[in-house]
Amino acid sequence: MKREIKIILFCVLFLRAVFMLNAAEPLFTVLPWNGYKAAVSLTFDDGDPVHLDFAIPEMKKRGIKGTFFLVSNSLTRPDEWKQAAADGMEIGNHSATHGRANELDEARQVKEVDGSGKFLRELSGQDVMTYAYPFCEITDGLKRRIEKSCFIARGGSGTAYTADSEPDWYNIYSQAAMTNYAVDIYREWIDRALDAGAWQVFLVHAIEESNRYQPIPRKTFTDILDYLLEKNKDVWTASFGEIGAYWKAQKVIEQAKTIKNGRAYSVKWKKPVPFPDGVTVLIKINGKDMSLSQAGKKISVVSQDVYRISFDAGEFLVKKDAKNNTAGKLIK
Ligand SMILES: [Zn+2]
Repeated sequence: MKREIKIILFCVLFLRAVFMLNAAEPLFTVLPWNGYKAAVSLTFDDGDPVHLDFAIPEMKKRGIKGTFFLVSNSLTRPDEWKQAAADGMEIGNHSATHGRANELDEARQVKEVDGSGKFLRELSGQDVMTYAYPFCEITDGLKRRIEKSCFIARGGSGTAYTADSEPDWYNIYSQAAMTNYAVDIYREWIDRALDAGAWQVFLVHAIEESNRYQPIPRKTFTDILDYLLEKNKDVWTASFGEIGAYWKAQKVIEQAKTIKNGRAYSVKWKKPVPFPDGVTVLIKINGKDMSLSQAGKKISVVSQDVYRISFDAGEFLVKKDAKNNTAGKLIK
């Protein structure tokens, strides 16, 4: 008797699983990390001149982009930072004075976040919607202030994220580079991100010949860059803001409402505020002979059933192509 119950229970569970698989086949999936297996962001803090003298030229040589979190009041060589921004490096906000979070009253928070943000926007010509906490210190008040002008902020140390993680967007974990780390440690971070399909954020302070915090050897730094180049078919190396925006857009689209209307499906979402403009996301449509359009314009495929869509549009439309039904008849 007991055995029969077990068999029945097994059958019920099995059928339920099969049914759910069919029922749960989604209309579309967002390809994580811009279609790559993993993602890496190199971030640099404090506007150390060695970033201008060494890090940025080495990155430019290899076509690698990163994020430089600058402290507005102690910034030196502004013209060169302006040039770095023009060359595609992301400029992020790292406060006005690098003060301790728990020593900031509301007026100081405004200065540290908004004052610095305004200065850096004017300097760089970029939106400057990313923040990195000085000393990785976070208070609720500071966080709330940052939420008004930034869509993401980098926090302290923690593990890498897989695409289905639910992060605190205002405390994205990073891993700090240290003077005594061998290059193998960084390679392992990259390899682990690849194995897990994850986003790894590096935090680099100084580089050799700088007397600031934790300088890493020049050779180690260029070895990291070369390793990222070697893996560039599988690893998306891009700025903190670019990868963060893609991932956040992915989450919004995955939560979007799908409305069925005859042979068409419309998927609608609301762009969060604040959020950068011009973000695009890769969508794979699960179904045959479908076409995708945004704002009445047909989007062409990037590869089989994959489309690059605009996040700003707030909507896409998927239609079953009528054309293909007659194509079959014509062949006969
Ligand atoms: Zn700092």
